[in-house]
Amino acid sequence: MNALAMLAAEEVEALSPDVLVEYILGITPDARPCFTCSFQTEDMVVLDFVRRAVPNVPVIFLETGYHFAETYAYRDRMVAEWNLNLINATAAQTRAEHEAERGLLHIVNPTECCNLRKVAPLMQSLEPYNVWFTGLRREQSPTRANLKKIEDHRTPNGHELKKVSILADWNWARVTEYARRRAIPELPLYAQGYTSIGCEPCTAISMDPTNARAGRWGGKKLECGIHTFSEKAE
Ligand code: SF4
Repeated sequence: MNALAMLAAEEVEALSPDVLVEYILGITPDARPCFTCSFQTEDMVVLDFVRRAVPNVPVIFLETGYHFAETYAYRDRMVAEWNLNLINATAAQTRAEHEAERGLLHIVNPTECCNLRKVAPLMQSLEPYNVWFTGLRREQSPTRANLKKIEDHRTPNGHELKKVSILADWNWARVTEYARRRAIPELPLYAQGYTSIGCEPCTAISMDPTNARAGRWGGKKLECGIHTFSEKAE
């Protein structure tokens, strides 16, 4: 797609993932894309689309130090198999330093723990980029129901970028069907019953079939903050 004309909001919502990737890269001057990746299935599907257009797209993984062993192993496997340009975004303190100073902050104050180990490293990692691809979907949570495929965002330090969710309108069945068709390996934790996978101490199997993220943070919150810290510019 060359010499792109700007589309109306409703036309953007109708774009297929591959066309949306081309569209956002085409309309963004000096486009510098990145992708934040948890290595869950929808993220692997997004990555499958994005890396066809940008083979060396920076893949930002929020390396909190608290992920499941299975997640680390799967990350390393896919980085090797897909030759990914992985960027581990880490907090200022290692997990050992963090726990020595603050104890088990993820139990007493998960919001502060997420701020230190996810939000702050992400904000810093996003600085070089102006297009931020995500695997967010409206179906994932009530907090994501109004998600738009392209949103203008501004981080608390004033950095502006396009936040692009190419699967915003996909449901889980569509995600898994696509992953199967493209022979994308699956993070093994799904086979154990997990439906939303983050840090190990804050992830349980959801008991609510209507909310895949209900097993996160013991149901006390639905978002870690990485998708709420930046402000949507209207
Ligand atoms: S998900 Fe839990 S362990 Fe991970 S950063 Fe947030 S509070 Fe800390």
